[in-house]
Amino acid sequence: MIVNDLRPRGYCHGVARALKIVKDAILDDKIKKPLYILGLIVHNKKIKEALEHYGVISFENPKLTRLEMVELVKEGTAILTAHGVSKKIKQLLETKAIPFIDATCRDVYKVHDHIQEHLPTHEVLYIGKPHHPEVEGVLGLSDDITLIPKVEVAQQFVKRTEKPLYITNQTTLSLFEVIKIVEEIEKRYQVKFDNDICMATTKRQEAVIKQPKADVLIVVGDSYSSNTNKLKEVSIREAETLAYRIETIEDLNPEWFKTASVVNVTSGASTPKAITNEVIFYLKQFDYNKKATWRNVSQVTYLDILS
Ligand code: SF4
Repeated sequence: MIVNDLRPRGYCHGVARALKIVKDAILDDKIKKPLYILGLIVHNKKIKEALEHYGVISFENPKLTRLEMVELVKEGTAILTAHGVSKKIKQLLETKAIPFIDATCRDVYKVHDHIQEHLPTHEVLYIGKPHHPEVEGVLGLSDDITLIPKVEVAQQFVKRTEKPLYITNQTTLSLFEVIKIVEEIEKRYQVKFDNDICMATTKRQEAVIKQPKADVLIVVGDSYSSNTNKLKEVSIREAETLAYRIETIEDLNPEWFKTASVVNVTSGASTPKAITNEVIFYLKQFDYNKKATWRNVSQVTYLDILS
């Protein structure tokens, strides 16, 4: 079986920076402990587990808002995740005198800046996935932002003000779905649109669209990770290549490769390299006709994940 390792894949600059911030904080005696992450530092449960091993507490209950998470912090230091938060969260932390470290990705701040710049002069629409932390952070900037999560909502949208429309979007969506929504609104209104899908997401999706012909694409990444899920969707819709998302080698089903002669592999922007490398190594030695090659027990350690 031929196994193609698509590039780029794996950590983007925002994830790499966020992880470095947490690792440095663990080692820095001057930073008050415990460390509380307001959500998952990046969307990968293995990273959360590895950080937990080193004493870092992550609030991962998706039903909790960032405001509710702050209320749970009584001591130590809070860390804001790569997905960003609204000003209200920072103000609450300051009021409670809880020190915090900001690991927000600069591409998320770019979206905040675009929106804040346009709010005084435009009616602002934001394309994003409800309940995603990045979306929660953006919506917390102002009550005047309208969330458009899908085409069906765009079809029903009616302008509320006389101001011209401005549209931007969550950083980790697929351009395909964003354009469909923008085109829907443009059928009835003139709009100004800034595509804010980040370069890391765009490049990884382009690699999947242009991937060498394969029987199947394996996307390594977490179910919470928006950019990971989009890689699978883009493969199926735009590259017409069957795709499976897995979190580790242990999710691989040998039956997927029964008749496969070429397999491509990619990973989301928050997937540790060690996990994807292990998948590639496994697939390279896999032979459907030799059961001895089927054993898929992960050997990746917490140290591998954080290094
Ligand atoms: S996926 Fe994009 S927005 Fe998210 S952390 Fe990476 S670079 Fe930043």
